[in-house]
Amino acid sequence: MAGQNFLFVPGPTNVPARIQRAMMVPMEDHRSPKFPELALEVIQGLKKVFKTERGTPIVFPSSGTGCWEAALTNCLNVGDKVLASRFGQFSHLWIDMCQRLGFEVEIIDVEWGEGAPPDRYLAALQADKAHKIKAVLVCQNETATGVTSDVPAIRKAMDSAGHPALLFVDSVSALGSIDFRMDEWKVDVCVSGSQKGLMLPAGMGVTCVSEKALAARQTATHPRCYFDYMDMVKNNASGYFPYTPSIPMLYGMKEALKTIEEEGLENILARHAYLAGGVRAAVLEGWGLKLCAKDPKWYSDTVSAILVPEGFDAAKVIARAYARYNLSLGAGLSKVAGKVFRIGHLGDLNELMLMGAIAGAEMAMLDIGIPVKAGSGVAAASAYWRKNQDQARAAA
Ligand SMILES: *Cc1c(COP(=O)(O)O)cnc(C)c1O
Repeated sequence: MAGQNFLFVPGPTNVPARIQRAMMVPMEDHRSPKFPELALEVIQGLKKVFKTERGTPIVFPSSGTGCWEAALTNCLNVGDKVLASRFGQFSHLWIDMCQRLGFEVEIIDVEWGEGAPPDRYLAALQADKAHKIKAVLVCQNETATGVTSDVPAIRKAMDSAGHPALLFVDSVSALGSIDFRMDEWKVDVCVSGSQKGLMLPAGMGVTCVSEKALAARQTATHPRCYFDYMDMVKNNASGYFPYTPSIPMLYGMKEALKTIEEEGLENILARHAYLAGGVRAAVLEGWGLKLCAKDPKWYSDTVSAILVPEGFDAAKVIARAYARYNLSLGAGLSKVAGKVFRIGHLGDLNELMLMGAIAGAEMAMLDIGIPVKAGSGVAAASAYWRKNQDQARAAA
C-alpha cells in the first residue's frame, strides 16, 4: 500500500525519525570503560521525567509488565495483602499477576469507564487496623477505557488513614504525557515502559523506586532473581548492568530524553492536553458519540475509547480502517470488545497527524453504516485547536 501506515494505537507509538536514527548503531562492549557514560546519562536523565531527586530509576530489558512483577517481588513477601482497584483490562491484568504470584488482593471493583475511587481506598485502609495491606496499587491511566485516575488523591487517602503501605503506580501510558510526580506524591514504585509516551520501541521496562521501596527490598522474601532491584542498583552505580543491556535501546532512550528536554516536559504535558481536547471535540461534538470514560474528570489525555452506537460492532470499524485506509486504531479489550475503538494520542504527535486518524475513523464508521456526519469530526477538532492554540504550550 502506498503512503504510510497511520499508527494510532495507544502504544507502541510513533518513534520519531531522530530516535530511529539514534538506534542504528554498531554493537559495542557493555563492559568497556566508556560504556558507563551512556548508561549513567540515561539513568540520571530519567529522574527528570519521573520528577524525582530521591528515587532511583531502573531500566529492565522487558516491557512494562516486567516492572509490575519487579515491584511486587522486590517489596513484598509471599501471601502479603495488597489493595487494588479494577476498572479496565490493565488494572485487571496487574491484579491477575498479583494473584498468580501468590499475593492476596483486596479488590475494589469499579465500573469500566470510571477511575480509582479515593473514598473506597480510604475506607479499606481505615478498616485495616492491623496494617495487613502492604501495598496499594493504582493504575494512573487505564489504557483500555481512556480513564485517568487521581493519584495524589490516593496518596492523600493513605496519609489520612495513617497507613504505612507502599504506593505502586502503573504509569505505563501516562509517564511523559500526563503529569506524574514521584517525590511530591510519595510514590514508592512507578512502573512504565518505553513504547508509549517515551516514543521508543517496546523492549525496555522503565521504573523508578523510592528509598522506602529499596528498604523494603532488604527484608522482603518473595523469590526474585532476574528482576532483583539490588542487582541493578549495585551495577548501575558504576554505569554497568548485571546482564547484557540492549545497546540500541539505550541510545534510543538517550535521544528520547534529549527530545523531551528540547520541547520541555511541561510543554509536552500541555500539548497532550491540547491534542486530546481536539480528539474529544471530534467525538463528542462532531460525531455526537460518547466516550467510555463516564465523566470529564476521568478523561485521559493520552487515549480516547470511543463507544460506537448500539447495534454496531467497533471491531468492524477497526478492521475497515486498517484494510481500507491503512489506519491502526486501538481495539476494545475484554469487557468492552466490540463496543469501543480507541484513538491513541500520545507521544510524537501534532494536530495534522491526528486529523488523519479522525478522518480515517470517520470514513471507516461511515463505510460500515454508522450515521456520523461526513467531515463533522475534523470540523470539530479544527475548531477546538484553532480556538485553543495557547493551550498547546505550558506558560508560553
Ligand atoms: C501498555 C500498558 C501496560 C503493559 O505494558 P507492556 O509494555 O505491554 O508490558 C500496562 N499498563 C498500562 C496502563 C498500559 O497501558
